[in-house]
Amino acid sequence: MEPWAIGVFTSVDAGLGINLDGVKQLGISTVQLHAPHGETRQRAAAVRAAFDAAGIAVTAVFCGFEGESYADIPTVKETVGLVPAATAAARLAETKAIADFTHQMGVDAVAMHIGFVPEDDQDPIFQRVVAAAQEVCDYCAQYGQHFHLETGQETGPALQHFFQAVGRPNLAINFDPANMILYGSGEPIAALKLVGQYVRSVHCKDANWAANPGQEWGVEMPLGEGQVGLETYLRTLKEIGYRGPLTIEREISGEQQLQDIARAVKLLETLRSQIL
Ligand code: MG
Repeated sequence: MEPWAIGVFTSVDAGLGINLDGVKQLGISTVQLHAPHGETRQRAAAVRAAFDAAGIAVTAVFCGFEGESYADIPTVKETVGLVPAATAAARLAETKAIADFTHQMGVDAVAMHIGFVPEDDQDPIFQRVVAAAQEVCDYCAQYGQHFHLETGQETGPALQHFFQAVGRPNLAINFDPANMILYGSGEPIAALKLVGQYVRSVHCKDANWAANPGQEWGVEMPLGEGQVGLETYLRTLKEIGYRGPLTIEREISGEQQLQDIARAVKLLETLRSQIL
C-alpha cells in the first residue's frame, strides 16, 4: 500500500459509513469497515471477495454494538463500548467474534470506541476496562492483530496512562482529531504528539469546538473547514512517522456525505503531494 493511501469509513449493513458502491464511485482504494451484523459476519468469505473484486483494501474492522448511542455526551458515557457494566461481558464476547471475522477478512486491525474510561486508576471501572482490553489484545494476538482504540473521549495524558496500565504491545490507537474537539477532551495536535508512538491508523475528520466543551457536543465539519487544522495535523502525522492510510470519516448521510467525501479526497491528495 502506498504511504498515506486515501481511505474512507465504510459499512455493508450497519453504521454510518458509506457503502461499497459509494467507495467505488469515489475511486477510493482503502476502507475501514464497520463490523457487519452477526448474519453477515457468517459470510466473511463473500464480503472479502466483494472488496477484493473491487480492488479495495480493508485496513481495519471497527466494532459497533447494539444499544450504543451518540445522542449526547452523557448518553455516550452510559452506552458506548466496554464501559457499561450490564453489557460488558456480552460485548467482550462479541469483540472476539469480530476478531474472528477480521481474521477471515485477512485484516490485522480490530478497532473500537472503548467508551469513557475514568481517569482515576483506582476506580473499579478503570480496572475492569483495563482487564477487558488485555483480554481483547491477547485474543487478537493469536491472529497477529492489533487492537486499535478510537480517540476522543479522553485526554492525551489519560490515554497514555491507560496504555501503560494495559501493557500489551498490540494495543494501538486509531487517532481521530475531530473527536477530541467534539468531546472537548483537549487540543488534538498536542495529544497526537504525546501518543504518536501508538498510532497505527487515523481518521481524517474535522470539527468546531462547542461553546462549553465537554458539556455539549462540538460540531462536525467538512474536512478542512473545522478547527482541527488539517495541514498541521498531516505535518504532525509525518513528524511522528505515520505512513498508514488516511481514512476519511464524515458522519452524516445521503448525497451531502458523498459530496463532502469527494472534496475531502481532493484536498488530501493535494496536501499529501505538498507534505509527504
Ligand atoms: Mg472517528
